[in-house]
Amino acid sequence: MPDLYIDGTWRGPLDEGTREIRCPADGSLVGVVDEAGGKDTVEAVAAARRAFDEGPWPTTPAADRGDLLLRVADLLVRDKDALARAESLDTGKRLVESEYDIDDIANCFRYFGRLAAAETGRVIETGTPSVDSRVVYEPVGVCGLITPWNYPLLQTAWKVAPALAAGNTFVLKPSELTPHTAIHLMRLLEEAGVPPGVANLVLGAGPEAGAPLADHPDVDLLSFTGGLGTGRGLMAAAAGTVKKVALELGGKNPNIVFADADFETAVDMALTAVFLHSGQVCSAGARLLVEDTLHDRFVDELVRRASGIRLGGPFDESAQTGPLISAAHRAKVEAYVAKGLAEGAVLRCGGARPTGPGLDRGFYYPPTVLDECSGDMAVVQDESFGPVLTVERFSGEAEAVRLANDTVYGLAGAVFSTDGAKAQRVAARLRVGTVWINDYHPYVPQAEWGGFKQSGLGRELGPSGLAEYREAKHIWRNTDPSPQGWFA
Ligand code: NAD
Repeated sequence: MPDLYIDGTWRGPLDEGTREIRCPADGSLVGVVDEAGGKDTVEAVAAARRAFDEGPWPTTPAADRGDLLLRVADLLVRDKDALARAESLDTGKRLVESEYDIDDIANCFRYFGRLAAAETGRVIETGTPSVDSRVVYEPVGVCGLITPWNYPLLQTAWKVAPALAAGNTFVLKPSELTPHTAIHLMRLLEEAGVPPGVANLVLGAGPEAGAPLADHPDVDLLSFTGGLGTGRGLMAAAAGTVKKVALELGGKNPNIVFADADFETAVDMALTAVFLHSGQVCSAGARLLVEDTLHDRFVDELVRRASGIRLGGPFDESAQTGPLISAAHRAKVEAYVAKGLAEGAVLRCGGARPTGPGLDRGFYYPPTVLDECSGDMAVVQDESFGPVLTVERFSGEAEAVRLANDTVYGLAGAVFSTDGAKAQRVAARLRVGTVWINDYHPYVPQAEWGGFKQSGLGRELGPSGLAEYREAKHIWRNTDPSPQGWFA
C-alpha cells in the first residue's frame, strides 16, 4: 500500500522513490516506505489549501472538531500495542517507553479536543448599546509541520492536535528515519472522519520533501521541531513569505545539584535526566553542575551506577536504555567525546563502543561521564544528543546560575536542594522554558512547553499551544450608524 496521503488518497511519489527503514538496535529491516520529492509536497500543499479555502473543516463548529479529536484519542488507545511496537522498531527505544509515549499522545489529543470547544472568543464592552465589539478566533490556514525522530509520534501529536483543533489544514513531514507511526496516525484520522485534504502526509528527506513547507506562499504557518541549525535555515527560508513560524529546537540543559540536596534522589534523577532514551531527549540534563563540596562523593556514585546501565534492544526486558538512532548520529556523539577529552575533560566511564551479545549489530554507545569540564568546551556548549554527561563544579548560588545560563540554549533545567527558598531563587533566574525542582523530565499538557533564547520560538502545549494555530480577529459592529459629520 502506498504511504503518501494527499487529498484524502493514499498514493506513491510522483518520481519513484523509496527508503528502507532499519531498526537501530540490530539493523533488521522494518519496512520499505515511499519517499516523496518536492513535487509531492507542493501537491500536498495545494490539497491543504483547497481544503482550507473551500472548507468545511475551518468552519466546522469547534465543539465538533473537539469531538473528532476525542475519537482519535480513543483510536490511539485501541491501537496502542501496534503503535508502540512500530515506534520501538523505528527508533530502537524500549517498548515500555513507547507504550508510555502512546498514552501521552492520546492525552494530548484529549487535551486539545477539550480546549477546542472551551476557547470561543470574547465580547468587549463598548459603552454604547448600539455598538458591539467581539474577538473571534480563526484558524491560521495551511500549516507545514516538520518533526524529528526522537519522539516521532509525540512530537507529531503536539502539532497535529492543536492544528486540527483550531480548524487548520496541514501537511506533515515526519523524520525520514521514523515514518511508521505517522502513517498509522493518518489512517486513524481518516477513520475518525477528517475530511479529504485537511490532513496530508509526505515522507522523505528534509531538503527535498520538507523544504517547500518553509518557502511556499500557500503555507501560512511553519511549525518545526528539530535541531538548531535546521531551525535557523527554515526560519530564514520562511522570511520571504512572512509566514508564522514556531520552532522547538535543541537544548543543553543544566542540572544543578547543591550540596544540601537529597543525595539518593539527586543521583537517581541525574542518571534519568541524561541517560533516558540514551540522551536523545531535547530536555536531557546533559550538563551536571555540582557544588564543589559534594562533587567527589556525588560523581563517584553517579559513575558507579552509570557504568552498570544495561543496553539492549526494544524487546529486551532487562535493558535499561537502547541504541542511538543511526551510525551517523553515533559518529557525531563519538566526535564530541573525543573533542572533550582533547580539551581536558576526564573520562570517568563509557567513552567506547560496548561489546556483548547483539550489541555490535546496533548503534550502541554507553553512558559516558566526562568530569572536570568547563564552559568553553564544545562538548559542554553543543548539543551532542547522546548519553554523554559533562560535569562542572560550582561554589554557591551565583556561580551555579552563571554557569547554567552560559549557553545559547534555554529549553529546560533542574535544581536539586532541600532549601526550598534557594531552589526557588535559582529557578527564577534560569533562562529556560521549563525548570524542575527536585525532579527531572515530567511535563503536563496543561503547561506550556518551549524554549527561551535559541531553543525556540513560540510554545507548544498549554493554552498557548492552541493560540499558535489561530488568529484573533476583532469585529466591531455599529447597529445604529449615522453620519459623523467630520468633513461635512
Ligand atoms: P533535524 O533538524 O535534523 O531534523 C528535524 C526534521 O527536519 C526532520 O523531519 C528532517 O527531515 C527535517 N529537515 C532537515 N533539514 C530540512 C530542510 N532543509 N528543510 C526542511 N526540513 C528539514 O533534527 P533531528 O536530528 O531529527 O532531531 C533532533 C533535534 O530535535 C535535537 O536538536 C533535539 O533537541 C530537537 N528536539 C527538540 C524538541 C523540543 O521540544 N524543543 C523536541 C524533540 C527534539
